[in-house]
Amino acid sequence: MNIHEYQAKGILSGFGVTVQRGKVVENAADAVKAAQELTDETGTGWYVVKAQIHAGGRGKGTVQETGSRGVVLAKGIDKVEETVKGILGGTLVTLQTGEKGKKVNKVLIAEDVYYPGDSEPEEFYMSVLMNRATGKNMIMYSTEGGMDIETVAEETPHLIFKEEIDPALGLQPFQARKVAFNLGLSGQAFKEMTKFVAALYQAYVSSDSSMFEINPVLKTSDDKILAVDAKVTLDGNALYRHKDYAEMRDESEEDPTEVEAGKVGLNYVKLDGNVGCMVNGAGLAMATMDMIKLLGFEPANFLDVGGTADAKRVEQAFRIILKDPNVKAILVNIFGGIVRCDRVAQGVVDAYKNMGEINVPIIVRLQGTNAEEAKKIIDESGLKVMSAIALKEAAEKVQEALS
Ligand code: GDP
Ligand code: MN
Repeated sequence: MNIHEYQAKGILSGFGVTVQRGKVVENAADAVKAAQELTDETGTGWYVVKAQIHAGGRGKGTVQETGSRGVVLAKGIDKVEETVKGILGGTLVTLQTGEKGKKVNKVLIAEDVYYPGDSEPEEFYMSVLMNRATGKNMIMYSTEGGMDIETVAEETPHLIFKEEIDPALGLQPFQARKVAFNLGLSGQAFKEMTKFVAALYQAYVSSDSSMFEINPVLKTSDDKILAVDAKVTLDGNALYRHKDYAEMRDESEEDPTEVEAGKVGLNYVKLDGNVGCMVNGAGLAMATMDMIKLLGFEPANFLDVGGTADAKRVEQAFRIILKDPNVKAILVNIFGGIVRCDRVAQGVVDAYKNMGEINVPIIVRLQGTNAEEAKKIIDESGLKVMSAIALKEAAEKVQEALS
């Protein structure tokens, strides 16, 4: 589950990670108040106004209605209101949002942390994630902060460092020191960085996150280390352990069909193809998508209906799949192990009748307990539903339906 920058910073600072201070607001008047309340420790009198959307690249992104960037420095408190008005309520398009962009419902008013001092501020990149190949956690970091990390990986891969952490042992102090050293730090900044890395790793583990990305991590001109940006992806499967994080979900940022499917307990992920899939079991659903790809078509979705494929559930699934106007055929692929195929077939027929006319061809492949009876129910229903028992047969019928 993705969350907003301001929420991510809240989680981080709860674990002792130092972050750029700020306050989230939903209107311009509150923004001015927020700026007044942010005691100006840095002395520049400037503030940063940051659009809160579930996508990065905001600094270089454009608000369609006003031409403003998604992250803007307001040079003085009297500029805060005007700056906020250029962002809030607008549609922000960045490299990560797609051309449709995302509506900005909230902005973060943050202190300006790039103040002048004894040394230049320096930006770094840091992320924490799991390396599936080694089964270890990994801190990925780079001296090239503030830039798109994919570009750094492509053009200057030698500037990206990786530190693997055995989850049973946890982060060792020498590893935190190695990170600070490789980032070229010394003195106070070195010490601050080791503390930052240790707190960040602890936060990652304790919050059951699947990814942290802090870009940039800033070394201020007086050698503090701060998270200026924060992208946190929480593990949705661990949310039952963190009720307070579950409340951070912002459904307005998610695909509306996926939200609706989630509410009725269907495991649905929208994709870009045109063959809708209704399958029981995640593994079979993946195999079904592979088969569609092998035929040269693209799946329109992943959908695992789970164990109970009765008429009500099948209907819910059909309705979700058909919300997508790209769907040109639906392949139902159910293996009857515990569920009986004839009951599923009856469910398909009942759901179909209940929904009235469905304008795309439906191919139903039922295999397992009572598969023959199931095929009979489909074939004798008089509906425009094609049945199959073998997967190959089903595939051929999909092909037929689409050509
Ligand atoms: P992103 O573009 O979505 O990744 O948003 P970021 O939070 O990373 O902000 C974009 C850029 O704004 C950063 O890389 C910084 O260069 C700049 N920025 C962020 N905070 C401040 C600040 O306090 N002062 C100044 N001068 N620039 C800032
Ligand atoms: Mn960033």
